[in-house]
Amino acid sequence: MAQRTTQPGPCPCASGQPYGACCGRYHRGDASPPTAEALLRARFSAFALGDVAFLRRTWHRSTRPAMLELDRGQHWTRLEILGRTGGALFDAEGTVDFRAHYRINSLDGAQSENSAFVRDGGEWRYRGRAPRGPVAR
Ligand SMILES: [Zn+2]
Repeated sequence: MAQRTTQPGPCPCASGQPYGACCGRYHRGDASPPTAEALLRARFSAFALGDVAFLRRTWHRSTRPAMLELDRGQHWTRLEILGRTGGALFDAEGTVDFRAHYRINSLDGAQSENSAFVRDGGEWRYRGRAPRGPVAR
């Protein structure tokens, strides 16, 4: 699948920054996401752009699927961050609770998850779904 890692315009993660200066540098491998939330945003953008290699690379080896195929008919349109714990510069783990909006066959839907992230060799990795805790909203 063609990767649009140099696409102009705003980043799919809706940070308000241009893609190249936001998740694009993580997708290219020029930098590593410094926080769990930055990785979550970069993974959302990777889903939106079809960057399977980035998704696999940032999946923790203990939970990484052997095969990963994206549904080409599913267009990821918007990301909402609902809450987070840990996941900062000096943390070893963290969670990010989010809702990801998509459009499929011209119908809108959303998927939400509280994702667990862990630092592995200095790099944040996605570990999987975390139980929802009592997060202040
Ligand atoms: Zn971004």
